[in-house]
Amino acid sequence: MVTAKLSTPIIQCNTKYSYGRKNNIHIGLLFTAYDLVHLQYVSTRLIINLLNHIKMINLEKTLRVQTSSYKNKNMLRYIKKQLSSLGASYEQDKHGNIYATKGEADTYVCAVAHTDTVHKLVPKANFKIYTDKNILFSVDTRTYKRCGIGGDDKVGVYVALHIMSQMDAFKCAFFVDEEVGCVGSSHADVKFFDDVILCVQADRKGVREITSSINGTEMYSDAFGTSIAHIIKTHNFIEVNGGTTDVGELGDKLLSIPMFNVACGYYLPHSSDEYVNTIDVDDTIAFLRDVIDFVIATPPTDTWTRPEYSYGNTMYGGWDAWDYGGYGKSIKKSSKNKFKRKSFDNYNWDDKRACWVDKKEKDDKTSCQVCNGSMVDTYQGDAWCRECGSWQQTI
Ligand SMILES: [Zn+2]
Ligand SMILES: [Zn+2]
Repeated sequence: MVTAKLSTPIIQCNTKYSYGRKNNIHIGLLFTAYDLVHLQYVSTRLIINLLNHIKMINLEKTLRVQTSSYKNKNMLRYIKKQLSSLGASYEQDKHGNIYATKGEADTYVCAVAHTDTVHKLVPKANFKIYTDKNILFSVDTRTYKRCGIGGDDKVGVYVALHIMSQMDAFKCAFFVDEEVGCVGSSHADVKFFDDVILCVQADRKGVREITSSINGTEMYSDAFGTSIAHIIKTHNFIEVNGGTTDVGELGDKLLSIPMFNVACGYYLPHSSDEYVNTIDVDDTIAFLRDVIDFVIATPPTDTWTRPEYSYGNTMYGGWDAWDYGGYGKSIKKSSKNKFKRKSFDNYNWDDKRACWVDKKEKDDKTSCQVCNGSMVDTYQGDAWCRECGSWQQTI
């Protein structure tokens, strides 16, 4: 019993059995003012459990909000309510994006998240979340089939709000309709990021991965990567090339701000079997907190400019790391919309090869040294093979 050291027992429980004839259970619940000021006697474990419980409720509460592309209303309302309770001020643009600031500082770290999911809305009374140990999943009680909990990216919304609740000064941006081509973030108000020194996003399946590049474009400088390498190592994270998400979109506009996306504990996204692992969500928050605290204490000093289109082996070598790789049936449906933006500057999106290609690119008649397939002259002296996908120096 936790009450041993308290002057008055919180819970007193006596059970008397006399051969099944008589069961007397006396439960006395007594809370005196004296006990309240002596709460230090209650084991710290109890308090930690209680805090964890509250945290769990908030994650679950966030996951309970149903939201879908072009139907972000519930989530936007929920976010605004949470921001008010955190004492943050916010603005909403005509697209629905929310920009929030808490506290006053010269510079801020900003967490971003997207407010839509790919899942259809289920009547509220039928959308039930179940818990098995540290796993959360959802069921549509009209059919009792799993219906996709929407951790992508409700976990990101939760992570952003949760970190904001812990910080004195912090910024958050919530973008609508990421799943249909980064609609919200492509209209982002760049002024909001004037005093931002780092942008983080939690919008990737799995755990313990940080995207040093997105679709082959560097997300932060080598110097920045080196400066946080000890945190990456301590938390057992690995650097990967990630797929399309809001920070990738923002990266095209905010060229000097380091940014990254992290895996955040949702699994099988874009499928009705999607689930969330709360331990992985906590690991994500712990990692982000360490990076954020480090960057606030030691702001990046290098004047780095993100290459407009950086290209490296990671773009193709890391194709497996593409955000919706392995999503199953829903891939085709969503990837069609995913690349609404068909070109930028000197590059066109090639659907067939699923990559950006130089507009000036022309078929090269030389053949691949690996498989003898036909080569494409792609980028600054490097060629790409249509058949086996390998890169080679143009002869
Ligand atoms: Zn997402
Ligand atoms: Zn997604």
